[in-house]
Amino acid sequence: MKRPNRIGYGWDSHEFKSGIPLKIGGITINHSKGLGGHSDGDVLLHAITDALLGAVAAPDIGSLFSPSDARWKGADSAVFLAEALIRVKAAGYAIGNVDCTLILASPKIGPHAAAIRTRVAELLQISEDCVGVKAKTPEGMATDNAAIAHVCILLISSQPKSRNKTIRGRTE
Ligand SMILES: [Zn+2]
Repeated sequence: MKRPNRIGYGWDSHEFKSGIPLKIGGITINHSKGLGGHSDGDVLLHAITDALLGAVAAPDIGSLFSPSDARWKGADSAVFLAEALIRVKAAGYAIGNVDCTLILASPKIGPHAAAIRTRVAELLQISEDCVGVKAKTPEGMATDNAAIAHVCILLISSQPKSRNKTIRGRTE
């Protein structure tokens, strides 16, 4: 008997700042402002990382990669996601699919959505048809100078329940 599958949810927001590159979903988007933060400010990769970590009840991204740690200043957020992926696999899970929603006034994500899907699929080592990327504008939210990301992720159990081994007295 397999263990139950797991679900993860991640949320993040970053403020736009002038003079830095804009990175969303592991790609660089040409825009007048980027997202501030201790690392590269990739709001989507941070939300995906937290969704992965949350699904296996691991410490969150801020606990594993403290903003006060100089090592993570300007860091590529793909490093955080890679660590979360290692923890997911070590816990005996594989990624089923991931669904992402970005909320930002500008730039428009539509023209970049395909590239973001490709990069996120590559980082998560899953196929592109398992990655949803949707974007909305923040109507009535007064958050025009921020980028917000919501992420849901499904983890599929790839190991049998360990207690079954004990019950049956043999390794499966
Ligand atoms: Zn963040």
